[in-house]
Amino acid sequence: MSTNTNMDAFWMPFTANRDFKSDPRIIERAEGVMYYTNEGQEILDATAGLWCVNAGHGRSEIADAVSKQLLELDYASPFNFGHDIGFEFANRLIKHTPAQLNKVFFTNSGSEAVESALKIALQYQKSRGKAGKTKFLGRELAYHGVNFGGISVGGLTPNRVGFGPLLPVDHLPHTLDIANNAFSKGLPEQGIDKAEALEQLIHFHGADTIAAVIIEPMSGAGGVIMPPQGYLKRMREICDQHDILLIFDEVITGWGRLGAAFASEEFDVVPDMITSAKGITNGVIPLGAVFVKDEIHDQIVNNVAVGGIEFYHGYTYSAHPVACAAGLATLDIYEREGLLTRAAGDIGTHFEKELHNLKDAPKVIDVRNYGLVGAIQFDPSVAANGPIGLDFQKGCYKRGVMVRTMGNIVAFSPPLTIEANHIDRLVNVLRETAEDMFG
Ligand code: PLP
Repeated sequence: MSTNTNMDAFWMPFTANRDFKSDPRIIERAEGVMYYTNEGQEILDATAGLWCVNAGHGRSEIADAVSKQLLELDYASPFNFGHDIGFEFANRLIKHTPAQLNKVFFTNSGSEAVESALKIALQYQKSRGKAGKTKFLGRELAYHGVNFGGISVGGLTPNRVGFGPLLPVDHLPHTLDIANNAFSKGLPEQGIDKAEALEQLIHFHGADTIAAVIIEPMSGAGGVIMPPQGYLKRMREICDQHDILLIFDEVITGWGRLGAAFASEEFDVVPDMITSAKGITNGVIPLGAVFVKDEIHDQIVNNVAVGGIEFYHGYTYSAHPVACAAGLATLDIYEREGLLTRAAGDIGTHFEKELHNLKDAPKVIDVRNYGLVGAIQFDPSVAANGPIGLDFQKGCYKRGVMVRTMGNIVAFSPPLTIEANHIDRLVNVLRETAEDMFG
């Protein structure tokens, strides 16, 4: 692959810059579940962009809404001014959130949604006279974006080591357990006991020092790790028992990935806040949000005299009208096409069946899936000379499929519009690449 564009100036995020620039993979166009490269090759998007293009690419309805909004109201300050589309979007969003989470704080990204949720938790505790509750608990292998709060509660070592000192945070153990749960379909049977570590950490730090626990209901970037059966419910119980807030980071799991609008609904556990981004606008315009329990919002807001700003936090682009227009058009598509529950139907069943056929592919030690997200994991021995991720990703790309890799884990989260023949193509390419590299 090549390009005539000088690539020096753009310092690319989370990228092996020098490797990429010596062997670039340039995407030129996208439509439906396909990308097209600058050399005309068709690439199946098995990652929904970066877990975000849930309704597929090139949705003209969203483009039209964005273009109309740009000419009607391109921007207005959200600080002490408003615009209808921001309120309208918030009202539409909460039709999909758990019943008690009816307040929406808008951000521009998942990382900012996480920072905002952490700050709301602190402000809430302070506001109700629990100013000592300032610590957070996160979890190993968690990804909560890249800002300082997010990397503090996050549990991916490379994202943390270069950037301390971080916030006062402790971490729960992750729940990946291949010895007991290899080749699980849906939620793993073993591992509810891992939730008890929360009791231990609370005991160790003291409940009166902890503001909130934040977890991804399903860890995405850490390796597609499903919660063990009963684990999330147990987390909820323990948090309630100790008067600690529970935040679900649903930046990936939101908007239909697991077969419901949110993992919270799918797993029937209601957190105190949900962070969202990505699929909220089908990934086409940056926008994030925190969905907040009424009780938390009311505590913070009603604690300040009318006329005073209740929460000293916000972004220039909070509820950006153009992003809200994209979001409203996205919700129209999700609702009309039934995309938020599609992963729970036949297509999810086909995905599961085909993915698990890879059990006998060379060096595969685990296959795991839920809804329309899945992963295969290779034996660590294949990584003797460094992580296989980039090479495997390039191998799939050469064969016309885009996947996400983390070390020796390969993850898939296709657009929710994917069809059975695309899944078959994905699985064939995964097998061919594994046979080529490790066979
Ligand atoms: N939280 C989770 C669970 C994520 O997966 C991500 C991104 O992948 C983020 C937060 C950060 O989102 P963003 O990249 O939009 O800042």
